[in-house]
Amino acid sequence: MKKILIANRGEIAIRVMRTARKMGIATVAVFSEADRRSPHVKYADEAVCIGAPPSSESYLNGDKIIAVAKKNNVDAIHPGYGFLSENAEFAEAVEKQGITFIGPRSKAIKIMGSKLAAKEAVSRYNIPMVPGIDKAITDIEHAKEIAKKIGFPVLIKASAGGGGKGMRIVQAEKDLESQMKRAISEAESAFGDGSVFIEKYISSPRHIEIQVMADDHGNILHFFERECSIQRRHQKVVEEAPSSVLSDELRAEMGRAATDVARSCDYLSAGTVEFLLDADHNFYFLEMNTRLQVEHPVTELITGVDLVELQIRIARGEPINLTQEDLRINGHALELRVYAEDPYNDFLPSVGRLTGYKIPVGDGIRVDNGFEQGMEVPIFYDPMLSKLITYGQNREEAIEKMISAIGDYKVEGVETTLPFGRFVCQHDAFRSGQFDTHFVPLYFTKKALNQGLNENEEAAALIGLYAYLKDRKKLRTPN
Ligand code: ADP
Ligand code: ADP
Ligand code: MG
Repeated sequence: MKKILIANRGEIAIRVMRTARKMGIATVAVFSEADRRSPHVKYADEAVCIGAPPSSESYLNGDKIIAVAKKNNVDAIHPGYGFLSENAEFAEAVEKQGITFIGPRSKAIKIMGSKLAAKEAVSRYNIPMVPGIDKAITDIEHAKEIAKKIGFPVLIKASAGGGGKGMRIVQAEKDLESQMKRAISEAESAFGDGSVFIEKYISSPRHIEIQVMADDHGNILHFFERECSIQRRHQKVVEEAPSSVLSDELRAEMGRAATDVARSCDYLSAGTVEFLLDADHNFYFLEMNTRLQVEHPVTELITGVDLVELQIRIARGEPINLTQEDLRINGHALELRVYAEDPYNDFLPSVGRLTGYKIPVGDGIRVDNGFEQGMEVPIFYDPMLSKLITYGQNREEAIEKMISAIGDYKVEGVETTLPFGRFVCQHDAFRSGQFDTHFVPLYFTKKALNQGLNENEEAAALIGLYAYLKDRKKLRTPN
């Protein structure tokens, strides 16, 4: 493998190229007309424009990307996350052209891309599932029966859903019919597949997921958990590893379940098995994401393993040169997704020009970044600017480092989730580890955010005053 093409943009394209470069592999970037001056284009050894700004005309144009790969003598394609990363037809088309797809085989992508097919595949193993129905449901009377059996509230979910989209909570029987109709038509228009099913709505769950990695030699390992319970719109904003609630026994049990999920679909490469953990610490299989996950860096920091390097080695046919027993959790890592979104205004995208942009640097701070000063945040794509990741010997240290790194991160021109990250890190519920996926609706308000800021400013002012007084004292001291 001498040259790889990265079919993605932004921070993840750079993240993958960094490892390729470390391994002595040349890189080809692709970009849309909106990304002409993006850092991922400059970072690559070669870069090719693949079309107009809308994703459908560029980053989702698989044929075009494969044509570029062939023309540029590329040996392999890394899809990153989002875009074509979970597109089974794309993976298959890549392999058909004699190019290696750095990821799972298309069959596994296909199975796990459908939440219903996934449930079916794992049913051969002893893996706890959220109570509900594991078949697409259209008949309203049948739906009522199921919902009554499992008990309200229930969740209607689109089988093909993703990115937090395609879910509807139903509180009472009278709302079931209208909500189901809406869910089906939404699923049809958003995912081109109107299959929906019903799950029990777990009331205070934590989102805990397990990183798995499988090679072509029968090895399937897990790289422990990530906790991703701090979400808005069912989508993660703050992630950490390890979770503050898992015991060693539960961790081992969930790890075993996750490797079984991978086994159930003959998995290859990096994948993530997502679970919900209820208040009594029962866990339930949610879904499997067949790609590198946004939040993979926290796992890298606590295990010391470069997951992209491992993906590339596996794609080259090498066995994983580690055993489960070799893997150890060392320290604690935290990630904040720095989105160009306005936390003061329902986390709506806040696009514009980055008139000021400076990322923090320092020991235990990693920023996987895709932007620089002067750039526009395009309206065409996910508005994530970067991921701010901190590492400490323990959770407390990682949190403190996050708070100070947020203070050193300068963004002007757009609103970001940085103040929200500070709010989370300073909140008692988060600090004590007593939180679930309802953290945002439970605790987060504009007022609370402002209070956090004021307290900070006050603290900064006090520190400044203290330093000033100390200095004065020094000056006054004779000789
Ligand atoms: P994670 O990797 O932790 O699951 P997300 O759920 O945010 O992170 O998804 C990763 C990326 O993929 C995001 O850019 C998200 O917008 C995109 N994405 C995931 N699934 C879908 C989908 N079904 N439709 C559109 N975008 C998706
Ligand atoms: P997606 O494909 O959009 O990532 P998931 O099934 O992974 O969908 O669910 C995303 C989030 O939605 C979870 O992390 C959790 O917060 C919430 N969620 C999903 N299923 C349930 C459920 N049965 N009960 C309560 N919350 C749920
Ligand atoms: Mg999910």
